[in-house]
Amino acid sequence: ESVINKIAAGEIIHRPSSALKELIENCLDAGSTSIRVTIKDGGMKLLQIQDNGCGIKNSDLPILAERFTTSKLSSYSDLSHLTTYGFRGEALASISHVARLSVTTKTAAAEHAWKACYEDGKLVPAKAGQTADPKPCAGNDGTIITVEDLFHNTPTRLSALRSSTEEYARILDVMTKYAVHNYKVAFVCKKSGSSTPDLSSSPASSVSQAVNLLYGTSIGKSLLQVTCGPDPNAVHTSKDTQSWKGEVVFTNASYQSKKFIFLLFINHRLVESARMKRAMEAMYTSILPKGFSPFVYLSLEIDPQSVDVNVHPTKREVHFLNEDAIVERVCNVAQDRLHNKSQ
Ligand code: ADP
Ligand code: MG
Repeated sequence: ESVINKIAAGEIIHRPSSALKELIENCLDAGSTSIRVTIKDGGMKLLQIQDNGCGIKNSDLPILAERFTTSKLSSYSDLSHLTTYGFRGEALASISHVARLSVTTKTAAAEHAWKACYEDGKLVPAKAGQTADPKPCAGNDGTIITVEDLFHNTPTRLSALRSSTEEYARILDVMTKYAVHNYKVAFVCKKSGSSTPDLSSSPASSVSQAVNLLYGTSIGKSLLQVTCGPDPNAVHTSKDTQSWKGEVVFTNASYQSKKFIFLLFINHRLVESARMKRAMEAMYTSILPKGFSPFVYLSLEIDPQSVDVNVHPTKREVHFLNEDAIVERVCNVAQDRLHNKSQ
């Protein structure tokens, strides 16, 4: 059976922020230390992302936007040994089917940059009358991905979007979360034509410092931090011995806000887990007065073999083996820390 059939296909790009999430992960996979995003009309008109990563070889450009073209996977067995975010080669392909995609890129070894444009997975000319092949151009080391007129050919998707203000808010939300998790990377996001960025993170020295910078000092000054792993005192069944580790950075009682801010990364990918979120909320309600809304950042590293790959990776809701035990353990460790703090 081919790699293709083993990987759940499906809709990948739901809105500008989901396109951007894929593009950010590509920049991080490429080893970038700077990621700069420019947005027009909530990302529907323009979504551009520039990085200073490894760039793309000229010889890879012709098939870059073909489905299942990835430089990160050679056989299905690799799926269980994922270390990078990308392993499907579907993001650029999907984007090229629902938007006008162009790529300007330069590797350190290349003498100059190359620009290529794509539609429906294939190279297309930048302008009528030109050939479709990549063209030499000026450019720095790294990659600029430009996505224009998202969903111009898929009216159903387009009509499902909210206002550009709301789509932009989602973009900023996703970027802020990645900026916290990747606190050594500088992130900038601005509206096209504006000189002042709406998000600007300089490299920080820790997650807490990044939270302080990006979510404000009222959250940042009340942070606790714990690391956790399997409970050493638990009666082990063979399943419980699975190794994992977690890092939690969370507010104590002194902070109040209107809504619960929860950042969950599993193996460095921003995901959602309703179960984990509920458990975290419950942990606080047993401790704190009603109306208190905490901030929790949780980064879990789990053996990739235990993360359910049958759930399409772009579905943000994830499941993993031994979920109950991990959720319980993380909450217990965090709760102990909260109790100690308030004593
Ligand atoms: P995947 O990330 O799953 O491999 P994508 O469709 O997201 O698939 O990207 C396809 C390929 O394009 C990647 O495997 C990588 O080789 C290349 N690529 C995409 N974005 C970048 C980038 N910002 N820097 C370097 N290479 C990139
Ligand atoms: Mg990718």
